[in-house]
Formats: sequence, C-alpha cells, structure tokens
Amino acid sequence: MSDQYFDVVVVGCGPAGATAARFASQRGASVCVMDQRQEIGNPVQCAEVIPKDLPEGIGIKVSRKWVASEPTELCMVPPDGAAVHMGKELSRQVCGYVINREIFDQELAGLAASASATIMLKTTARSLLRRRGAVCGVRASSFAKPVDIYGDVVIGADGFASQMGRWAGLVPPLSASEVNICFQYTLANSGCDASVVEAHLGCEIAPGGYVWVVPKGGDVANVGISVAMDRRTGRTPKDLLDRFISLSKRFNGARPVREAAGAQVHAPPPAALSADGLMICGSAGRLSDPLTGAGIHMAAMSGMFAGKIAARSVECGDFSNSTLAEYQGLVLRECASDIGNGSKLRELLAKMDDPPCGARGHRSMRQDGTGWPPSSCCVMPWHAKDEKRIR
Ligand SMILES: Cc1cc2nc3c(=O)[nH]c(=O)nc-3n(C[C@H](O)[C@H](O)[C@H](O)COP(=O)(O)OP(=O)(O)OC[C@H]3O[C@@H](n4cnc5c(N)ncnc54)[C@H](O)[C@@H]3O)c2cc1C
Repeated sequence: MSDQYFDVVVVGCGPAGATAARFASQRGASVCVMDQRQEIGNPVQCAEVIPKDLPEGIGIKVSRKWVASEPTELCMVPPDGAAVHMGKELSRQVCGYVINREIFDQELAGLAASASATIMLKTTARSLLRRRGAVCGVRASSFAKPVDIYGDVVIGADGFASQMGRWAGLVPPLSASEVNICFQYTLANSGCDASVVEAHLGCEIAPGGYVWVVPKGGDVANVGISVAMDRRTGRTPKDLLDRFISLSKRFNGARPVREAAGAQVHAPPPAALSADGLMICGSAGRLSDPLTGAGIHMAAMSGMFAGKIAARSVECGDFSNSTLAEYQGLVLRECASDIGNGSKLRELLAKMDDPPCGARGHRSMRQDGTGWPPSSCCVMPWHAKDEKRIR
C-alpha cells in the first residue's frame, strides 16, 4: 500500500478521536481517523452514563437514537446500606443520560465523516513517524497491510491502553494502584428502578471501587463492578459481582444479555499532553474522573480542543509544541477541578474500612473530609427488607 498524506492524523475513533476528527475537518483540515476495530463502538465496555451537558458542550443534538434513558436520581449506597440521594440537580449533571454507547460512538464518527474526515477501520497504529524529532505520522497496518500515514499533526486518542503517549515519552507506565478492573452485565428483566442510578460502595462489595446499577429503560440495566487492581482478593471482579447480584432479591428474575470486561485508569494526567506534532486526548491522556472512572465527557471535550488546535496549527503552518501546548491549558481548565476532586475522594475511599455489621448510623465517606453526606440521607425502598443482603 502506498503512503498516505493528510493534514491531521487521529489514532482511535472513540469519543475523543471522533470528536477531534470532526472539529479539525470542520475547520478545513484534511483528516484521517483510524481505528483498529472493524466496527466503531463495538464491543461496548461502558456503563453508558453521560452528564446532561455533554451534547451541548461538543455541539451535537440529543438524539432518541442513542438516548436509552434519562434517570433523575443518583444514589450512593455506603457499606451500612443507608442510601444517600445526591439531589436532582447534581444527579442530572452527573448522570443525565444513559446512552446506547455503540450508537453514540457511531454517531460521533458519522459526524466526523459528514465533515469530510476519512475513517479507516481495521487500521492499527504500530509506531510513530518522526521528521527532525517532531512527530509527523504513524506507521500502521491496515487490513493486515503495512501503510505509512503522514500528518502535520497527529492526535493520539487510542484509549486506556494507549501506546501513542508512551511512544512519545509523554505518558509514564501505570502502576497497579492506578488501574481498576471492571466487569459488567447488561441484565434483562432487571427489576431495577428505572429512574435511579446506584453506586454501591464498600470493601466487601468492591475493594477500591464500586458496583453500579444503571437503568437503561424497559427493565434493562447495566450492573457492573470496578475493583482496584492492587486491592484484589482471591475473588475476581466477576465473582464479586455475581455475589452482589445473588444477594439481592430484586435480581431474582434477571438474565444477562451482554457481558463486558474492561479497565479504567485512575491516574492523574501526565505533565505534558503535547509534543512537537502530537497531542494526546481522552483516556490516552488519562483524562477521566479518578473516582468513578467516567471519561466520555473529558474524552469528547479534549477531542474537541485537540481538533480545533490542530486545525489552527495547520492554518498557520506551525506544528511545534509552542503552538500545540495551548491544548493542555484548555483541557486542564475544563477538567482540572473534576480530576482534583475525584483524586481526593479516591484517596479517602482507599483508606476507608467498612463499618461493622449493623452500624446503621455510621458514615464512611465524606466529600471534603467533614460534612458529607448531607443530612438528607434516606433509606432506599429495598433496604428495609433487603438491607443485610445488599451489604
Ligand atoms: C467497564 C467500564 C465502564 C465505563 N463506564 C463509563 C460511564 O458510564 N461513563 C463514562 O463517562 N465513562 C465510562 N467509562 C470510561 C469510558 O469508556 C472512557 O473514558 C472513554 O471510552 C474514553 O474515550 P476515548 O475516546 O478516550 O477512548 P476509547 O473509547 O477507549 O477509544 C479508543 C479507541 O482507540 C482504538 N485504538 C486503540 N489502540 C489503537 C491503535 N494502536 N490503532 C488504532 N486504533 C486504536 C480503540 O479500538 C478504540 O476504539 C467506562 C469504562 C469501562 C472500562
């Protein structure tokens, strides 16, 4: 296969890469976005929750095609079983939409294509190409054939296990304490409250992580678990999730229609997200909430910034880090407070022990170390009859 030339080359067509490709294309750059998958968004490895303000933030219309449900409440369930409702406004901000992720990712890719980006499926970046030290493309294999794809600006949006950032020396290797291993069932006949997203905390339930219950509408729910890699016991995340499900009566008739495994990064972003000719965005740049692992919002927003800056650097013919570094400022302004708060809470969670059985008034986690949870705590309907089982 002969070499290919574009202004901007994007590696990875998840929310970050697709959004970067769309914004760079819309601003007149010729763009190629590649993905190693043969189908964008598949397999789904996601609880599929996005905040209410994301569509507007990246300039897309909310579509019935990808909205599965609109929960109205987020509810944290600490180890003592007494649920804490987070309030309607906060709930909407954090978990405004439950989406069909595959369709959502394909819509983002479709919008990039409509803006004239070239999408290359089954195309895997293998290494960076450099000219006088600056990144100027990637060596890839496309449908198993080698190809060099050149671009004045390269955007690494290759997700959690990103190689792009490592090849460029920007992103250090992850330690076990920075990774959570996840497992999720999509359950039919789930018996879950269609309006409530639940997060269950506790060392017994999910060491260093949590169990989520996310209603997808029509009695379908994503029920998943994340467990800190360095706090794993003899039981796998799947074992722990099976136990959680088997101990709650409401799941008695539930049956899995989809399984997914994956990993979430809970590490802070690296010191630099750009170099000469290169920007790193989304999970590849460790842009996700260090507490929950949620990262679609930061991925898409960082993709938008990367796409805009890439197009501008093409326009002015300057691909050096002095131009691209503005990207980092925009990203940190958007994400720094969420990342900072999430980190603090994760540290607290790491130190947290479960309360002794029956310690009903015990509160194990406080948002700022003093005054959390709020006084509006109440008991979820199933706790009265099911409390010991949930614990
Ligand atoms: C179990 C689980 C549940 C989650 N739930 C939520 C949630 O409810 N809400 C939320 O906001 N976040 C959630 N997340 C996190 C969220 O999925 C990520 O933050 C988000 O996908 C990051 O988007 P991205 O575009 O950066 O990377 P990705 O979506 O991972 O996309 C990266 C793309 O790059 C491609 N790629 C990788 N390497 C190469 C290569 N060398 N060449 C070509 N292509 C390559 C991949 O195939 C992939 O398509 C969850 C994660 C997991 C694991």
